[in-house]
Amino acid sequence: MYRTHTNGELNASNIGNTVTLSGWVQKVRDKGFMIWVDLRDRYGITQLIFDEERTPKDILAHAQKLGREFVIQIKGKVIERSSKNPNLPTGDIEVLVEELTVLNKALLPPFTIEDKTDGGEELRMKYRYLDIRRNPVKENLIFRSKVTQKVRNYLANAGFVEVETPYLIKSTPEGARDFVVPSRMNQGQFYALPQSPQTFKQLLMVGGLDKYFQIVKCFRDEDLRADRQPEFTQIDCEMAFVEQEDVLEAFEGLTKHLLMEIKGVEVQKFSRMTYEEAMKKYGNDKPDIRFGMEFGELNNVAQHKDFNVFNQAELVVGIAVPGGNSYSRKEIDKLVNWVKRPQIGAKGMVYVRCNEDGSYKSSVDKFYNQEDLAAWAKATGANPGDLICVLSGESWATRTQLSALRMELAEQLGLRKKDEFAALWITDFPLLEWDEETKRYHAMHHPFTAPKPEDIDLLDTAPEKVRANAYDLVLNGNEVGGGSIRIFDKSLQSKMFDLLGFTKEEAQAQFGFLMNAFQYGAPPHGGIAFGLDRLVAILGGQETIRDFIAFPKNNAGRDVMIDAPATISREQLSELNLKLLDNNNIKSSIK
Ligand code: ASP
Repeated sequence: MYRTHTNGELNASNIGNTVTLSGWVQKVRDKGFMIWVDLRDRYGITQLIFDEERTPKDILAHAQKLGREFVIQIKGKVIERSSKNPNLPTGDIEVLVEELTVLNKALLPPFTIEDKTDGGEELRMKYRYLDIRRNPVKENLIFRSKVTQKVRNYLANAGFVEVETPYLIKSTPEGARDFVVPSRMNQGQFYALPQSPQTFKQLLMVGGLDKYFQIVKCFRDEDLRADRQPEFTQIDCEMAFVEQEDVLEAFEGLTKHLLMEIKGVEVQKFSRMTYEEAMKKYGNDKPDIRFGMEFGELNNVAQHKDFNVFNQAELVVGIAVPGGNSYSRKEIDKLVNWVKRPQIGAKGMVYVRCNEDGSYKSSVDKFYNQEDLAAWAKATGANPGDLICVLSGESWATRTQLSALRMELAEQLGLRKKDEFAALWITDFPLLEWDEETKRYHAMHHPFTAPKPEDIDLLDTAPEKVRANAYDLVLNGNEVGGGSIRIFDKSLQSKMFDLLGFTKEEAQAQFGFLMNAFQYGAPPHGGIAFGLDRLVAILGGQETIRDFIAFPKNNAGRDVMIDAPATISREQLSELNLKLLDNNNIKSSIK
């Protein structure tokens, strides 16, 4: 038996017991006549003591050779500590060692295994197994496990059946590039890894399973924008005989349950907002509504004066920054430079100081009088003491820029509080979006999403105006879930593929299996998928999903620990009947 207790378990009630413990050497303090060792495992730290008087000589000598991260086993007696450590659950006791076995030696770790380590990100990822020994990483993984189990239990209790769907499939249309896997047995042909189990879960509904869920890996070969992973986990769900309201209710239930169970936070009804409203009020389809700073459109009150910048703009829009009048000129200039950075792209920023005495001082005083500025304050909801920031230009770009500024200011002002939760459903997304580059419509959610029945006629006349029965769940300004009511009728599905620019043959070749299934009695159905990594990160009060993934990839999509992706041997290539394009770099790296 390697251990009778864990290293987080022993306390004063165990004094006098003989115990066996195993674990890693966290720290050795060697005073010559006395040695203390902190022994660590997942559960905590127990202090071991070896001393000249009470410990056999050979064991004391052996203990002197222990190094950091050695894996050891000891047998000894639990004794009361002379100087207790109230910060440690085991702080009242120590174990006087009688037997010591080194189970495995360890090289000196490349960074310190402490809560605050000296190891940089890349190094920690290379030795992720050592990183996982550190409390913050370990706690995050345990936290994730807890959330996952709560999800599983909740959905199982609600009658959802957990079904695994295949990973080796063919292209799924979630809008990203597929990862492909060459088939040896079907040469010249490729599987695609699922971007999500979308079509399979719909087929499970045709199969009559009624309520499905799966905690499942999804794969998308995208350029990795901040905090994305090429493989990530979804809580994927589908239900039959449901309307949008049924799905929202079911998953509002799950989210509330998690907030209650994990954070002890009770959220009454989730807010709801249409996509259009979200874009107008916040310039963003995943607004953080924990703080105000709603957009105030100023076209009516700011145009047709002598300020040409505004006169020529499609949209003039502002926000009131609470208490912002206290900003110095230098701080305001900093904001102006911030919005002008290429990442944001604004041409400039007009501002209005709202003085405590009710007067205004703006950067465009030449063109606007106090009455004009009072109208701006009214439109943006600014109070005395606030600062109004105004951007102008093409509507979509200006809204996006102001949204970025709003989030930045909220961050700076400490308005995005980790322990405050606001959940919001965004509904009525457009069904399609026009892509200038390819001169085609794209499905905003995916091609299986049903249009709102009342908008179906517009499919022929004004497709861009059609709203979808699609919804996103937004938590604290992050999209944590999204789904839709699906098309379940073959002819409507085929019309949708037409609109998306598929020829009949292409649609048949790619999605014939689904349209065929629709001919055999497909029930009305709909569903949703949550991004588990992000959900866990937000519940954990952090925003980086990497911190909650055991073995994440870096920004270049690489696993630096196992060094993947990697080349394959000539034999493997030839077995797959594959030849790499003539590229010297690639060639020379083949084994
Ligand atoms: N498959 C969709 C996605 O991955 C979710 C859904 O529509 O249920 O975003």
